[in-house]
Amino acid sequence: MTEKCNVLILGAGAAGMMCAIRAGQRGRSVIIVDHAKAPGEKIRISGGGRCNFTNIHASPKNYLSSNPHFAKSALARYTPRDFVALVEKHRIPWHEKTLGQLFCDDSAKDIIRMLLAEMQAVGVKMRLQTEIASVEAIATGGFRVATSSSIIEADSLVLATGGKSIPKMGATGFAYRIAEQFGLGIIETRPGLVPLTLEPTQLEKLSALSGIAVPAEISHGKTSFNEALLFTHRGLSGPSVLQISSYWREGDEVRLKMEPDLDIIGHLKAAKKTNGRQSAQTALGAILPKRLAQHVVERAGVTGNLADMSDKGLAALTAAVQEWSIKPSGSEGYRTAEVTLGGVDTTCLDSKSMQAKTVPGLYFIGECVDVTGWLGGYNFQWAWASGHAAGESV
Ligand SMILES: Cc1cc2nc3c(=O)[nH]c(=O)nc-3n(C[C@H](O)[C@H](O)[C@H](O)COP(=O)(O)OP(=O)(O)OC[C@H]3O[C@@H](n4cnc5c(N)ncnc54)[C@H](O)[C@@H]3O)c2cc1C
Repeated sequence: MTEKCNVLILGAGAAGMMCAIRAGQRGRSVIIVDHAKAPGEKIRISGGGRCNFTNIHASPKNYLSSNPHFAKSALARYTPRDFVALVEKHRIPWHEKTLGQLFCDDSAKDIIRMLLAEMQAVGVKMRLQTEIASVEAIATGGFRVATSSSIIEADSLVLATGGKSIPKMGATGFAYRIAEQFGLGIIETRPGLVPLTLEPTQLEKLSALSGIAVPAEISHGKTSFNEALLFTHRGLSGPSVLQISSYWREGDEVRLKMEPDLDIIGHLKAAKKTNGRQSAQTALGAILPKRLAQHVVERAGVTGNLADMSDKGLAALTAAVQEWSIKPSGSEGYRTAEVTLGGVDTTCLDSKSMQAKTVPGLYFIGECVDVTGWLGGYNFQWAWASGHAAGESV
């Protein structure tokens, strides 16, 4: 059986569904295909089940790409406010958590239901649990896609199959293969927004800290993030570490400043004055988690009461909190990475429409493109914006 439609979208994730909605609103006949049992599985698990669906501060500077200008056009034409308007139209309660991050009050499933309702309203046909066997261009124009249930011919073909992160959820890297098949370039892919691991000797030294979370400024080169850091039994995690992981490269060091907003030396000097007979560990324990205070004292190699300590000793303690240099041995990889960095080379795509410059009718949107956002709702905003841009053009 051969079906025909104007637009065939491969991947019913965030980007694919947004593209389907916009194309449908423009009167195009749309089929969206996914090999998963349900659409939007990553939306469902995102933001701890509440979906951090956008960030009100989203701008091109929050994205990594070999071409930092590429995302500008799509992001400017479909903004966080546009998505919030859609959320409000569906009366989905939401709140700003922190740093401009918008979450559902109740459940990420509200966002999926919203997208499904919008697709239904414009007659989008959805095929789930459908494998894609082959993709080919038709000599006279358009594309022919063989799936496990039918052959579909379409004027436009949109690749929205995401990146390689979380293979357990069905991530395949399929879009990269299709890009290569049509002669488009790929920027090397690697896991992003991922916990960093430490080698066994380092881990052993830090084992007492496992489970502790502290505010931390973490830096790599000129890039730094000031959010929570979590010590784990594998290494380092928490928002600040996930953020820096997208910039970190194997073999590099990262710099850690724990409790960056605390005046540690000022606190120690004041404690020395008011109660010099207390230990450094007790004084630090008043402002740091107790296990961290103990580790810091051992790390600084100081002993005795505050009264017996020179300014140099107090400075060593301060450095043991705020001047760490640490060389991660690796990352937890695609198994736990929230996103995939790199992807379809943006120089091969038109930034207004996401259409391949050399293959009319072929589009790439969402995470499979070499545009990756920071943690905090930026990746969904890219999925909505790039999906919308393609939906305007197909
Ligand atoms: C645990 C987790 C939490 C996250 N939380 C957030 C958050 O709160 N906020 C945020 O902004 N971002 C978050 N992200 C990132 C965000 O989920 C992605 O950036 C976003 O989903 C990308 O959208 P997409 O449509 O490009 O790809 P996806 O959402 O990954 O959708 C791709 C679709 O294609 C399908 N597919 C893949 N391969 C094939 C194939 N060969 N054949 C058929 N179908 C295929 C998949 O089943 C999937 O439905 C999170 C990611 C993870 C893993």
